[in-house]
Order: sequence, then C-alpha cells, then structure tokens
Amino acid sequence: MAYGKLKEFLQTELKDVREAGLYKEERFIYGPQGAGINVEFPAGAPKQEVLNFCANNYLGLSSHPETIKAAHTALDEWGYGLSSVRFICGTQDIHRQLERKIADFLELDDAILYSSCFDANGGLFEVLFKQEDAILTDALNHASVIDGIRLSKAKRYIVKHMDLADLEAKLASDEVQNARFRIFATDGAFSMDGDVAPLEGICDLCEKYDCLVMVDDSHSTGFMGKHGKGTHEHCGVLGRVDIITSTMGKALGGASGGFTAARKEIVDILRQRSRPYLFSNSLPPVIAASAITIVDLLARTTERRDKLEANTMYFREKMTAAGFDIRPGVHPIVPIMLYNAKLAQDMAKELYAEGIYVIGFFYPVVGKGLARIRVQLSAAHELEHIDKAIAAFKKVGEKYGILGKSKEEIIARYGE
Ligand SMILES: *Cc1c(COP(=O)(O)O)cnc(C)c1O
Repeated sequence: MAYGKLKEFLQTELKDVREAGLYKEERFIYGPQGAGINVEFPAGAPKQEVLNFCANNYLGLSSHPETIKAAHTALDEWGYGLSSVRFICGTQDIHRQLERKIADFLELDDAILYSSCFDANGGLFEVLFKQEDAILTDALNHASVIDGIRLSKAKRYIVKHMDLADLEAKLASDEVQNARFRIFATDGAFSMDGDVAPLEGICDLCEKYDCLVMVDDSHSTGFMGKHGKGTHEHCGVLGRVDIITSTMGKALGGASGGFTAARKEIVDILRQRSRPYLFSNSLPPVIAASAITIVDLLARTTERRDKLEANTMYFREKMTAAGFDIRPGVHPIVPIMLYNAKLAQDMAKELYAEGIYVIGFFYPVVGKGLARIRVQLSAAHELEHIDKAIAAFKKVGEKYGILGKSKEEIIARYGE
C-alpha cells in the first residue's frame, strides 16, 4: 500500500513536532467571538469563562449587533452563495459597491475582492512582476506575502526588518536599479511586535529610487490613523502607497475576505489575470453586505477606533507602571517580553487559570530568546476587563518575580 511509507514518515514528523513542544492544540470556543468567551481547553476539560485578549477583533465588530443585523438582512436579500467565480456569474451589485467603498475609504483608485488576504497576496506579485523585475521584501513579512512573491519569477531581495539604511543600499544597487520595475513590499504593522513600518521614510526612498510601494495592512485597516484608514494614514503617506492588501477577517467584522486596493490599472489587470480571483468562488454576499455596513460605519464615526486607542494606551501605561518589560509602541498588539519560552508558556497558563486568555509565543514564531506573551486589545473591552487583566498579570508576574526586572535580570534567572 502506497500510504504505508508516507504514514510512517508522517508519524515521525508529528512526533518530532510534539517533542519540540510545537504541536498546536485547538481550543473550542462555545458561542460567538467577543470580549468574554466560553472556552474548553484542553479538549474534555470543563468549560471556562475567560476574557479574550488574543483575538484580532480590534474594533469589537466580530459579533457586534450591527454586524449581525447586516448579515441577517443580507442573507434574505442576496442569498447564501453564488456558485460561481466573479467573472462568470458570481458578481452582485454589492461586490462592486464594496470595492468602491474600500477604495474610497483607503483613498486609492480602485479595489478588488478576494476570499482572503492570503489570496490577495498570493495573486498579486506574479501578475505584475517577471524575471526582469526586482521585489524587495521586509524580512518579517507575513507568510502570504512571502508565498505571493515566491510565485513570481522576479528577483527577490530581503531587506532587514524596518531598516531604511538597508532598504536604501539595496534600492541603490546596480542590480536593482537595472531591473525593469521595482517594488518594496512590507506589512504595515507586524503581528508579533506590533511595530509599524516607517512608511514615510520608505515612501521617500522609494520615490527617490523609482520603486513602487506595497503595504499589507491586515493588522491596521479600520483603526490605525486618525480615521482608521490604516498605517498609510497613521504615517502621513496617504496617496503615496501604490498597493494596499488587507483582510476583512480581523478588524472589519472578522468573518473572512480580503482585498487589494491600488492604482487603477493595477486593479484592472488583477481582474484579468489574478489566479485566486479568476479560479476561486466569489465572496459570500453575507460578507460583502456586512462589510459595506462596516466600512460605512467607519467612514461615519471614529468612535470605535478611538475607544481602541484609549484602551491600548491605558493598558500599555498601566502595565509599564506595574514593571513589565513591554515593547514600546502605539499598536493594540502589546508584547510582554519574557525572553524564556517556558516562562512565557507557564505564565500564559496561569493567566488562563485567572480567567485571562493570552498566548505565549516563542521560537520559531519569534526570534530566539525573544519569547513573550502577546496581548491584543479590542474596542470590545471595557475598562473593567482591562483592569482585571492587569491585576492578573501583576499577580502572576509577582509570583514569577519579574516585575520591575530588566531583560538581563529575567534572562539571568530563567535563561533564554
Ligand atoms: C492575517 C493576515 C493575513 C491573512 O489574512 P486572511 O484574510 O485571514 O487570509 C495576511 N497578511 C497579514 C499581514 C495578516 O496579518
């Protein structure tokens, strides 16, 4: 039997993953996503009510009554599914409406929808760039940006993370300058550190060296910048970024769906040639219609992003004052640095027992010796939720003796 050999091989692989402590167990949530969730973990354990600090539900819209109402209405009015790709018989008026709304909100010419941002990135680069072109990419870009670039035959240059000097050195090189087209691709905000790409410096350099700029703004669309347009607004470079890809699976309702917003001809050619667009089903009408409601809401009021910003500042301030080592920044992703993998896992477990759901991250998801607990704030959180989280962090931090301790002191005690 052909499977026998593969089976044995896979069993060994799985065992290795387990032994390396990297086996991912899924946790069952009973009920909708929200600030408070009912979780069964590990499988078979009694369910527990916990406050959720690890979702990308930045604006608290994932199960917001307005989102749910819009989805119910859409289901009745536009049906459940299209059973077609967009260009055959899968385009409804709401698909086009949503594309226009996204483009207007982000202040770009046009937009094209995908089933996910993973697909948007997967279907972008190979359409635009061939052997004679150069793609520069930040070393910590998202897996889907990396995969999308891999599908293109263009020459690839990895730029040190958020390093403008390295970007300039690569842009100025003969090889890159002699390419037909150049593009620099970067995440707008990076998921592990919550650091924001220096887009003003990036745009300055790219303009100087005749290079396009692409930003994956999945962790920013809807709340970064004064009106929540994203990192291009936050960094003051509206109109200077050529291509923005993003997701509807995070702040914008959290179901699924992605898009590429870009200059007109770029969107036009993607509609003709982008493989995940041409060969995959159109976005469910429920998602398209709810997303329209959500983008309208964001265009109408900044209330939710303002609340998220206030929550983020409050948490960052109080945790810093409590003596935690926090990566400075403004993003609702707040890394609590612990450096040691076991410490991060142990503390996350104790926080869970205290009713605070957070996740410890360690190598290879983050760099060696950079283990941390990643906290994600949401507009769904009320101050009492955040206070409860801070109190739990203090209790557990005290137990482990890390409050007020420097990186060196934590490493001296727990190792890297
Ligand atoms: C989450 C994420 C994606 C994937 O988005 P989906 O719509 O879930 O496929 C892509 N890029 C970045 C930077 C992300 O954070």
